Amino acid sequence: MIDTHSHIYLPQFEEDLDEVLSRAEQVGITDIFMPAIDFNSNDQMEKIEHASINFHQMVGLHPADVKELESQFEQELFDRCSAEKIVGVGETGLDYYWSTDYVAEQKKSLHAHCKVAKATNKPIILHNRESTSDLLNIIDKEQNGALTGIWHCFNGSVEEGKKAIDLGLHLGIGGVVTFKNGGVDKTVKELPLNRMVLETDAPYLAPTPKRGKRNEPAFMQITAEKLATIFDVSVQEIIEKTSNTARSLFKI
Ligand SMILES: [Zn+2]
Repeated sequence: MIDTHSHIYLPQFEEDLDEVLSRAEQVGITDIFMPAIDFNSNDQMEKIEHASINFHQMVGLHPADVKELESQFEQELFDRCSAEKIVGVGETGLDYYWSTDYVAEQKKSLHAHCKVAKATNKPIILHNRESTSDLLNIIDKEQNGALTGIWHCFNGSVEEGKKAIDLGLHLGIGGVVTFKNGGVDKTVKELPLNRMVLETDAPYLAPTPKRGKRNEPAFMQITAEKLATIFDVSVQEIIEKTSNTARSLFKI
């Protein structure tokens, strides 16, 4: 199983990371992809290691952390993303839930991430909160046939999911698909499984029945089981399909 979105380098895991990673190994997680919050995240990622799990780093600036962008931001993003070990660009995106003070800067940052993703031929990781139409409009503008990526923690409508897929994106499916009343399970059922990847967004958004607790990669098993129920296939099929999609998207 591949966790395509996990912030295990954050302080929430400082005390028991070894236990967290051995639980991940026990459920069969082989690869963990780590999206960045800001440029300091990669120093934290460097410290993560485990004998039988592969870790993959990304570089980016989370939309909720965007303030005034420095003039050399795009160049620095490009330089950092060009490193061979960096497998993706993000996380970026738009977030109008926490604050709308820096919407213009968030959009500028998202454009910069798109340009760098295309220039480095690496997928983009998109965060979206109460900003779907602006997000999809920007991806539409930036798409020149070379942009790939993931709408992480997909929570849109069927129509928005289809539009995202038409624009070349994949859908990251995490704990919210297990939430009662969320409706994400019904939406996901109407969308193609071959464009989905599994993720946790650890330490956030733990699946039911762990909802409200700290999320961790091992809990992705619950999400895989939920998807198997939704699509009426075996858990093994879910794991194989989503892992193959993740491998080809990130070229690992
Ligand atoms: Zn995230």
